[in-house]
Amino acid sequence: MYNAKEIEKKWQKKWQEMKIYRFDRNKQPIYSIDNPPRYASGALHIGHAVHYTHIDFIARFKRMQGYNVFFPLCFDVNGIPIEERVERKHGITRKDIDRHEFIKLCKEFADKNIKEMIRQFIILGESMDDSIYYRTDADYYRRLTQISFINLYKKGYIYRKKFPVNWCPRCMTAMADAEIEYTKRKTLLNIIKFYFNDKKRYIEIATTRPELLATCQVVAVHPNDERANELVGKEVLVPLYNKKVKIIEDERVDPNFGTGIVMVCTIGDKEDLEWAMKYNLPIEICINEDGTLNEKAGKYKGMKVEEARKEIIRDLKEKGYLVRQEEIEQSVGVCWRCKTPIEFIEAEQWFLKILPFKEKILEVARKMEWYPEYMYKRLEEWVNSLKWDWVISRQRYFATPIPIWECEKCKEIVLAKEEQCYVDPTIDEPPVDKCPKCGGKLKGCEDVFDTWMDSSISPLFNAFWKRDEKMFKKLYPMSLRPQAHDIIRTWAFYTILRCFLLTNEKPFEQIMIDGFILAPDGKPMHTSLGNVIDPLEIIQEYGSDALRYYAATCKLGEDNPFRYKDLVRGIRLMNKLWNVEKFIGNVLDGNIKNKEGKFSLVDKWILSLYSKLIKKVTKYMEKFEYSYAMKEIEYFLWHEFADHYIEMVKYRAYKKEKISLYVLYTIGLGILKLFAPFLPFITEEIYHNFYKKFEGKESIHISEWPKPVLIDDDAERKGKLVKNVIAKIREWKNKQGIALNAPIKLVKIYGDDIKEEKETIVNTLKIRELIITNEKPKARKIAHPLYNKIGPYFREKSKIVIEEIKRNGKKIAEEIEKKGFYSFIRNDEEIKISKEYVEIKEEPQENLLKVENIFILVIK
Ligand SMILES: [Zn+2]
Ligand SMILES: [Zn+2]
Repeated sequence: MYNAKEIEKKWQKKWQEMKIYRFDRNKQPIYSIDNPPRYASGALHIGHAVHYTHIDFIARFKRMQGYNVFFPLCFDVNGIPIEERVERKHGITRKDIDRHEFIKLCKEFADKNIKEMIRQFIILGESMDDSIYYRTDADYYRRLTQISFINLYKKGYIYRKKFPVNWCPRCMTAMADAEIEYTKRKTLLNIIKFYFNDKKRYIEIATTRPELLATCQVVAVHPNDERANELVGKEVLVPLYNKKVKIIEDERVDPNFGTGIVMVCTIGDKEDLEWAMKYNLPIEICINEDGTLNEKAGKYKGMKVEEARKEIIRDLKEKGYLVRQEEIEQSVGVCWRCKTPIEFIEAEQWFLKILPFKEKILEVARKMEWYPEYMYKRLEEWVNSLKWDWVISRQRYFATPIPIWECEKCKEIVLAKEEQCYVDPTIDEPPVDKCPKCGGKLKGCEDVFDTWMDSSISPLFNAFWKRDEKMFKKLYPMSLRPQAHDIIRTWAFYTILRCFLLTNEKPFEQIMIDGFILAPDGKPMHTSLGNVIDPLEIIQEYGSDALRYYAATCKLGEDNPFRYKDLVRGIRLMNKLWNVEKFIGNVLDGNIKNKEGKFSLVDKWILSLYSKLIKKVTKYMEKFEYSYAMKEIEYFLWHEFADHYIEMVKYRAYKKEKISLYVLYTIGLGILKLFAPFLPFITEEIYHNFYKKFEGKESIHISEWPKPVLIDDDAERKGKLVKNVIAKIREWKNKQGIALNAPIKLVKIYGDDIKEEKETIVNTLKIRELIITNEKPKARKIAHPLYNKIGPYFREKSKIVIEEIKRNGKKIAEEIEKKGFYSFIRNDEEIKISKEYVEIKEEPQENLLKVENIFILVIK
């Protein structure tokens, strides 16, 4: 039995000392992986474990293929999730203490997490390189974020504007569209009266957000609505506020929603903003940054949104404006972090232009290989749906500062110099001491960048952009971006955008998109459902290789449920591998790397299968189709190599026949290498036990990926026959209750295709006398009923006829051959069967076994 626990611990430690995963700056060819910097805010989740293991598979595979693999250990350490945890941990909000004191707390929190995360990666057996380590909050990384901003600013792609932005009143910061999640919730649809000037006639308008009445700008109806003719152009009064608004027609009104007439406020949701743009409506916003209403809302000023809504509804009811209320289900945009409904507020924000580059981005994206291919579609849909530029500023503390100063008098912007970066304008001096325009005082910008501004330049950081131009040429574009599908619209999109704007080129050649891991019942894992699986607990019980085996069975791009049975299956596989390799290791003696002698038929058979296996697995690995690769190797190990070839070759191996040892050595090592990217621990252990003394390389993980040895289709066909003949006789032994190693007196095989392997058959099955002949076995003729002919003719007698043919097949065949028919008496009636009602087949006389077209006679 293989002892995973002990052996895995040993290699976790040794690999740290061996430093075999180091990227070599001077070696070609390079395979570079834009490893996702892991978010330094929380616990390791099974999805992360599987995802990083998928990336590790390709890193190990490419290393064995001879690439100089660039696979950095890295962490993403910016932004709100860390701030939130720190706030929760210390029971404070960031506004309670000094900005820099708070940043220090965030950094300490991240440091502690990173330490633990590195330990987890080591346990999982991930081969990341700590000599190219980075974290996104370090000065060296933030320096690059700032320089990239300065570059984009100079190109004219950055602008500042007072603009309605998505705003989370809980996190108190602007948000990008990509950060908004949509959830369904029940809410009340309020049908409200909007009176005409005469205060007698009115129209009914449906709204879920009466608290926005103060900012109602216009009322709209669909042009096909029969009321449109009469209404359009007229004015109505906004209830409670008595503000006059016009009625317009617009095709975007859904005639089936509510009363078919809607009010447009600036701004309740994104649609309102589109109306505002289209009709050039004034942007009036009645919600503050903290989610309370402002003076525009009149007497509701100071109330929180929910509270104000209740109050307004009460007033509408009291004053007779509320016609009725209906409960409806509504899709609401919420903050992805804290699930608070998003509001729109108007604020000065910094933007990076996206809209002019939509086509270009897709063009660049199409130049990359997408795995699975259909994931490109998701990016395309997202890009096509974009309506705003990217809000890159955030009003938080723990993130990369925006490297600018502003004149307190004339608002002139002073940009930091590239050489100055990393710079914190809230502490550091500006490049000039006063405003170049008016001589006014300069104030450092307090806004910071959206986290994606840091992580979306990871390929530039990795490729030494602005640090080492020679390395940059070698490393950019990077070979691979691996990532999960939920961040296509953020990480993938922003990276392609930024890198293209800065380099005019795609950031990577290939992109591999992974799915999620679901709970065993197929539901998403969630603490509240109690179905969360802790990968560290799994490893504790089953071992890292077993978890990695599960990861290998997950299909790329798909959401896979967690399967305990795959852990068990993995362990069985490892025990099998352990035993097979132990057998090989024990019979090996001396250096059998060199071929001596001639291959037998079964040698050629197994080598041909093995060679095809290598080709298939290599092809699958290159497309990240790990689950297919694993299936192939596993099948070969169990069902060709272990169950058959090893049994057949044992007698030769025990005699130390050189060529048989050569085959065992070649495949024994080769299959170990095929498993090595998936199961790094057990393969390393076996390699060190049996192969290292011959191979020299200090680790299997830096050894060469196996190459095909020979392809021989004829040997494959004949070898398969030998395998099946042996299997058939074994099965017969088993059925007869004869021990597998007990001798058999006589076996006669009719079919001399496999005579080359006579000795193998004799030795594998312990046969005292084996005759292989090209004669055919003595045959006899038997009649079989032809049901479709018998039925229509014999009708109710069909059953009797069929029974008779089955009982007397041999005699019937003889008589029909002689006289053309056979007759018998049943119930005093003669029944005649002529030749069209039977099929006469030749069958061997004795009780023979059959494999393809070969018959086998076995005598105990
Ligand atoms: Zn929030
Ligand atoms: Zn100025």
